[in-house]
Amino acid sequence: MTRPRTRPVPGRGRGRPLLFDDTQKKAYLKHVTAGLTLNEAAAAVGIDRRTVNHHTTTDPRFREARDTAKAAGRAARWDDKPHNEYRYIHGGCRCPQCTTAASSARAARRAEPPPPAADTPRHAPTVIPLPNRDIRPDQHLPPLAAVS
Ligand SMILES: [Zn+2]
Repeated sequence: MTRPRTRPVPGRGRGRPLLFDDTQKKAYLKHVTAGLTLNEAAAAVGIDRRTVNHHTTTDPRFREARDTAKAAGRAARWDDKPHNEYRYIHGGCRCPQCTTAASSARAARRAEPPPPAADTPRHAPTVIPLPNRDIRPDQHLPPLAAVS
């Protein structure tokens, strides 16, 4: 009876080693949670963004963890930004400070005089006379009877 083949390290096959193993996944998720973008976090771990994307499509648990980390990282990035009109519009912050800043900026824009009306065209059409050309109307067209 032949002895069954055993692997030297359990769980490790003979194929190519993983580019993005569990310790790297943990480090990546830590970077994303800290507020790095997905590209920056992948570069910090030393892999390509596409490798991460591949693992999100093949590993649902990693995808879930990545999405959670992504939301936390986005919140961390917004925490660094000041409370002003930009944060009101793009960050959706409705704190009193952002609301006041957005309201006063909007009121200032509306109080500005409107730009002058453009009743004259900006660029008048340029007419370049052609040399040696009969400029009388319809002189270059054949008579209608000759056409039909
Ligand atoms: Zn705010």
